[in-house]
Amino acid sequence: MKLTEDQEFNQVILDALLEKMLGRYGDRERWTPLERPHLSELLYCLTKSYWQARDKSGTVSFSTKTRVMFALGVALEDIMMRPVGDSEVGTFEGVQFEMDAVTTKGEKVEYKSKRMGVKRFTEDFPIGYYRQVLGYMKMHGVLKAKFVVIFIIPAELITWEVEVSQEELDKNWEWIKNRRDLRNRFVESREIPQPFTFNEEYECKGCNFRLLCDIEGAKA
Ligand code: SF4
Repeated sequence: MKLTEDQEFNQVILDALLEKMLGRYGDRERWTPLERPHLSELLYCLTKSYWQARDKSGTVSFSTKTRVMFALGVALEDIMMRPVGDSEVGTFEGVQFEMDAVTTKGEKVEYKSKRMGVKRFTEDFPIGYYRQVLGYMKMHGVLKAKFVVIFIIPAELITWEVEVSQEELDKNWEWIKNRRDLRNRFVESREIPQPFTFNEEYECKGCNFRLLCDIEGAKA
């Protein structure tokens, strides 16, 4: 047998994936006064969200790795969540949301796929997920929800019931509203959110926009 890497055909697949991603994330005018922010963009680096909105072709935002991860995420979500319930989209207090599934009993379900082990995940629960799940719960007015994680290696599926107090929910929502207002002020003033300021440190590792931020940061 002779194996020859076919980069041309590989690129055909990657280009098709890019088209799908642009259709899902890029077919709206982002970071404009008319557009309401999506919850997920408020949870993570605001500078990244700004750069992504300007990357209309998606070539910087969506590297090969990002495209493959997108494919895995969408395929897994489809097979794991659609038998459970349909997703639900909406807007709450000027923030858009997309709940991964709402069951016929009305249970709200957030879903993730992870490449880390269960132990590491639970011991170091990602702050972005915490903010997202509680954000969705606030938007849906519930104090209980399901949080489902499929762990890829080693393969495992765990569902947690999340239960929080109204106080905890409201505190988290205050944080999100502050981010919403901050983001909206940057949109109105047409300023670039200062790099390395509105993000968690780990987000910069391997970020596709690192070079742009280094250049922009050097001007400050
Ligand atoms: S390099 Fe860091 S500050 Fe810049 S966009 Fe990426 S995550 Fe944000």
